[in-house]
Amino acid sequence: MNNAALMQRDLQVLWHPCTQMKDHETLPLIPIRRGKGVWLEDFDGNRYIDAISSWWVNLFGHANPRINARITAQLERLEHVLLAGFSHEPAIELAERLVRITPPGLERCFFADNGSSAVEVALKMSFHYWRNLGQKRKTRFVTLGNSYHGETLGALAVGDVALYKQTYEPLLLQPLTVPSPDCFEREPGVSWEEHSRRMFDAMEEALARHADEVCAVIVEPLVQCAGNMRMYHPVYLRLLREACDRYGVHLIADEIAVGFGRTGTLFACEQAGISPDLLCLSKGLTGGYLPLSVVLTKERIYQAFYDDYERLTAFLHSHSYTGNPIGCAAALATLEIFDSEPVIERNRETAKRMGEAVEHLREHPHVGEIRQTGMILAIEMVREKDSKTPYPWQERRGLRVYRHALSQGALLRPLGNVIYFMPPYVIEPAEIQALARIAEEGIQLATRD
Ligand code: PMP
Repeated sequence: MNNAALMQRDLQVLWHPCTQMKDHETLPLIPIRRGKGVWLEDFDGNRYIDAISSWWVNLFGHANPRINARITAQLERLEHVLLAGFSHEPAIELAERLVRITPPGLERCFFADNGSSAVEVALKMSFHYWRNLGQKRKTRFVTLGNSYHGETLGALAVGDVALYKQTYEPLLLQPLTVPSPDCFEREPGVSWEEHSRRMFDAMEEALARHADEVCAVIVEPLVQCAGNMRMYHPVYLRLLREACDRYGVHLIADEIAVGFGRTGTLFACEQAGISPDLLCLSKGLTGGYLPLSVVLTKERIYQAFYDDYERLTAFLHSHSYTGNPIGCAAALATLEIFDSEPVIERNRETAKRMGEAVEHLREHPHVGEIRQTGMILAIEMVREKDSKTPYPWQERRGLRVYRHALSQGALLRPLGNVIYFMPPYVIEPAEIQALARIAEEGIQLATRD
């Protein structure tokens, strides 16, 4: 088997996510034979650095021996059992550990099986909590401009990236959307902190006017990943926590993309010193191995559902593969790596190295900004540097970078005009240097006309 033969078979029967399939008339589809560490290898023997951790899921490399061993051992014991009326050790142990390592006050774990489902769980749980308390006017959610929380209908409704949302608008809940604290938009000379603080005024105003009909505010702490890796200052989360308390509204933190060390701390909320009422986790939870997600919440919320059956206050949300034991085993192995190795400290060095490797690109006439939060580094290409005028999306300049990177042995998958590095934590210095070189060449190629 080679790439061409597999691509041909694939295109007969598969329909790929996030893809205009017609693109594959000219764009090669890359079948991967195996992965090891940060490397992926295709059926023609080409190797690629997985610079985006396969959609931000992989933490400790492909085919990680510790995670492999734990999964294999679990397979011998129990592959799956329903989690209603039944339980299993991996789910219990994982829940105990998650309660221990997440911000204080999060004491209950509700498992699901992917990120979007976790967001659905959090939205329904918040709404249902207020209903159980007799507050039936609370039916709406507040979200940030440019946010992304997944693509099932509820999760899509509380996101704000037009590319994914616009078509389905007639099907969706109507959230209150407040401008994002995204610091790319700040005036020259204004600090991240000052900009994010100023942007909070709009949130304060929305809550002041609508708190009685709002269940929760949902945010991606510190980095709006699918919204082109836009970043903001932790002060916004601090102000938001305080306002949610004041107005009697839940705070849902969607750390699906940023949790487990991505932003420089184990959880992004730590940088603001806050605990949300509901915390959504997925992606890195299993080290990038298997679909699993969890919503952590407070005892007070759990207790609002706890009553005699006949009162019908129970939270009835279920997915067949909720808390799958093999997924939980992968998650436990991942947490053991965090326990036994100085991951966060090492990431600090790696993040610094990533920043230094692209520092000189700040001067490039078509680089509007280089921004970084921990292990997420983004380079925004612009048509006009001073005004930060974007290239029209129709020009698909990011795609040129994608193609160039593939030819040079890297999987960089720009979001629009934004090239980013979000690699597995095990990336080596030489691999970072290679990525920086490939990104620079890609930017030259993509911006020369
Ligand atoms: N929330 C955020 C912040 C995400 O980045 C994503 C996935 N990109 C999701 C939710 C949805 O997760 P999933 O793709 O597993 O449904």
